[in-house]
Amino acid sequence: MMFLNAIELTDTLPCLAEPGKIIVVGKPSRSLDDVLPYLAALPNVIGYNPEACTLTFRRPSGFLTLFADRVNITQVCDVEEGLGLLSSLVDAINATWTHRHELTPVNTARRAPQLLDVWSLLPRTNCKRCGVATCMAFAAALLQHKRTPADCLSLRDDTSLSAQRTSLEVML
Ligand code: SF4
Repeated sequence: MMFLNAIELTDTLPCLAEPGKIIVVGKPSRSLDDVLPYLAALPNVIGYNPEACTLTFRRPSGFLTLFADRVNITQVCDVEEGLGLLSSLVDAINATWTHRHELTPVNTARRAPQLLDVWSLLPRTNCKRCGVATCMAFAAALLQHKRTPADCLSLRDDTSLSAQRTSLEVML
């Protein structure tokens, strides 16, 4: 049985993260609160608060945030792309609901990694081998997806740090 019939586009806003692009706001045809714990088990979740019923996914560019009664998609080119994204989201939510028995629902909060979380997993020697002046600056570049953990040559070359590198890759 389908969970959701549609998500209606209700508003668009200028996207501050990328001038010229828009934020698409949608209203689901029913509350999403029952499906959010299953959606939170999917990849690319960067933040989840079950009490507040908010779930954020990373998109190739921008973010998708689901609330019980609202959906926001950032960095969308135009209304046409937004309508396509909302339609795909309905399909993804319905598929998740159909297969919910194969998923473990998530009921604990998860937050996006913070600068210090990322920095604490780097070697913190400020060796500059990555081409950046400090490990803190490199951590900021990782969070902005301008660099990848493999760009830290000290982390790459030191096998004793492989667990830290794996943690970073999972976190990001
Ligand atoms: S290569 Fe790694 S350890 Fe060296 S400065 Fe860059 S982030 Fe820090």
